[in-house]
Amino acid sequence: MFLKRLLITTIIAMTAMSVAYATEKTNLTTKNATVMEDTKTMKTCPFDTIFAQGEPNPYGQFFTGQTYLNRLNPKEDIWNLPIGNVTFEPGARTNWHKHDGGQILLVLAGEGRYQEEGKPVQHIKKGDIVKIPPNAKHWHGAAPDSWFVHISLEPNAEINKTTWLEAVSDEQYLEK
Ligand code: MN
Repeated sequence: MFLKRLLITTIIAMTAMSVAYATEKTNLTTKNATVMEDTKTMKTCPFDTIFAQGEPNPYGQFFTGQTYLNRLNPKEDIWNLPIGNVTFEPGARTNWHKHDGGQILLVLAGEGRYQEEGKPVQHIKKGDIVKIPPNAKHWHGAAPDSWFVHISLEPNAEINKTTWLEAVSDEQYLEK
């Protein structure tokens, strides 16, 4: 009786493991395919930028157009401050979103756009600093005809979760 139960338990555990493995393999394949697809269309920012452009943005599903991410500091370390260098191709922008702990953008190159919900679209350029309050619904991105590079700092990391919302429509982006 005991042996039979042990055998059944073992079979269930092995089946669960193989399902988990298969799922992981599928995700990996999908991810590689996505990266390869993006690499094919990867372009180089024409500006002389300070930090490397990085890889096609792994959060690309929450953006319109092509963007690139170079993680300058990870989320999980003793400094507790995720820092990323984000490069936007012309016309590319984030979806609307919120950061529970706020965000600071340091503009390094090009011309960009920033909008907080209910306020006009701001034109931003190299040298500008944008301080985005916690939970303010907003988006940021490149101007329609310019590449754009900013550093993103996500302070208050222990509580700072990003909530991604709907895409910024062309009407909103062009403020028509
Ligand atoms: Mn943001």
